[in-house]
Amino acid sequence: MRALQKFAVACLALALSGSATAQFDFLNKAIDAAKSKIGPAGNLLDKAKPVVDSMGIDEPKEVEIGNEFAAVLLGAKPLLNDPPLQRYVNTLGRWLASQTERPDLPWTFGVLDDVGFNAFATPGGKIFVTKGLLMRMRTESELVGVLSHEIAHVVLKHHVNAMQSKAWTDFGGEAASSYIAKGNLAEYKGKLVNLGKEMYTKGLDKGDEYAADSAGVVIAARAGFDPYGLPAVLQTLQAQSAQDNNFSLLFETHPSPTDRLESLSKSMNGRFDSSNGSVGKSFAERSKEFSR
Ligand SMILES: [Zn+2]
Repeated sequence: MRALQKFAVACLALALSGSATAQFDFLNKAIDAAKSKIGPAGNLLDKAKPVVDSMGIDEPKEVEIGNEFAAVLLGAKPLLNDPPLQRYVNTLGRWLASQTERPDLPWTFGVLDDVGFNAFATPGGKIFVTKGLLMRMRTESELVGVLSHEIAHVVLKHHVNAMQSKAWTDFGGEAASSYIAKGNLAEYKGKLVNLGKEMYTKGLDKGDEYAADSAGVVIAARAGFDPYGLPAVLQTLQAQSAQDNNFSLLFETHPSPTDRLESLSKSMNGRFDSSNGSVGKSFAERSKEFSR
């Protein structure tokens, strides 16, 4: 119950933050700077077609599942009480999401009050990054890389597909729709919450992580940012000890940064030019803009 209340507050805060349209100016400049030269990289995301789901999860259901997962995440860590920062991340995230094949999802981006370094996507387009992650971003394009990776998980329906795979036996292989049709809504939601907890502590398939990295780079480039923001973050992580508590969950739920860089360099090979994209601004400058 507490988690759901927090979630309602979060939705309200984020809905209010969506009105800062004047602050899209910097994004328009970013796209002018680079969009024309993406070239052959532009169709990478198109090639990675989402698997057609056999469980009958349509888009409204996907959003509903995502809301349950978001409640799980917000139950563990609340939203950070910093409206300008929330507005900034939400504005940037929505711009990136608008460049994807699923621009019309109810995309919402929030910052969790957590010193750990992490980012989470839920089905249907609710995405969270931690305060600890934001503190460690050196350029805006690095944050763009992280957000685009999470957006790619949603566009490619990785969580929904994982729910359908045999690995997630908590559903007993039963389709969510037939579960609900039998009138077991409360039980269904309980199982969903458990499934969410499992997904965010064990992580997705390694293959899904590599796919989100390469699709994330495409999204960043389409949006006019330096596509090398994500590789830069992975390089930083490479130098980071997995024993550090602030990073342990990330290392447990993702392939090693070295493996991700190797996979990413194959998919980026020759397709991207960092000079075409914007590295964005520093957080100090950006927070001044969003505090006005
Ligand atoms: Zn991921």
